[in-house]
Amino acid sequence: MPNESLERTVPIVVAIDGPAGSGKSSVSKAVARRFGFGFLDTGAAYRALAWRVVEGGFDQEDADAVTASLDGFDYSIGTDPDVYFVRVGEIDVTDAIRLPRVTAVVSAIARVPAVRSHLTELFRTIAGSTDRPGMVIEGRDITTVVAPDADVRILLTASEEARMARRSLEISTQSADTVAEQLRSRDRADSQVVDFMSAADGVTTVDSTHLDFEQTVDTVAEVITTRTARTSP
Ligand code: C5P
Repeated sequence: MPNESLERTVPIVVAIDGPAGSGKSSVSKAVARRFGFGFLDTGAAYRALAWRVVEGGFDQEDADAVTASLDGFDYSIGTDPDVYFVRVGEIDVTDAIRLPRVTAVVSAIARVPAVRSHLTELFRTIAGSTDRPGMVIEGRDITTVVAPDADVRILLTASEEARMARRSLEISTQSADTVAEQLRSRDRADSQVVDFMSAADGVTTVDSTHLDFEQTVDTVAEVITTRTARTSP
């Protein structure tokens, strides 16, 4: 049977949402690599703006000040899963956006409606301009707001315990308790704005609580294959 997706001119869009520590960034990146797709980490844009707010001395509690920080926000991100970078203007902020002081304010930035609509447009533009046959977009509201018509929509979840344990392995500069508390409070704040804990209609849930990394990548790849009749090369 011919693989119809190979004849498509419009890139396949794979939308993946999930809470912090669900592994969605690394899983999305690995899946994109497997299919030869681009990869867009939308959380990085919220983090880059949070970095600009912190560095530029904007008041993160003031929605107008946060909205003003969008003016001249010159953001770029690598969508090649093998060449990941985040820049604001000429400055490489790939590592800086993961610093605890940036993570601590990102939820406050992300709840400002003007920020969400600006970044949503930016994500659609970036995804639409890929020269690859598909794009994996990951975040919190991709299946529901950014790309509700995506060919494949997945909610990647894991128990709170598993997410805390994974995140604490990634962050060696803070105690496991601190990491857990920060993750919990970020989830609480973020879920007031977007529901990324339950799957919207038509969204496939992949629960990675009892799966290792490779098993999770395989499971997500299977969903993509089934939904698009596309086989990974
Ligand atoms: O994915 P990551 O944890 O890097 O996201 C950082 C923050 O960006 C989240 O805590 C959330 O506040 C915000 N975010 C969002 N919508 C997205 C992606 C991220 O609000 N699609």
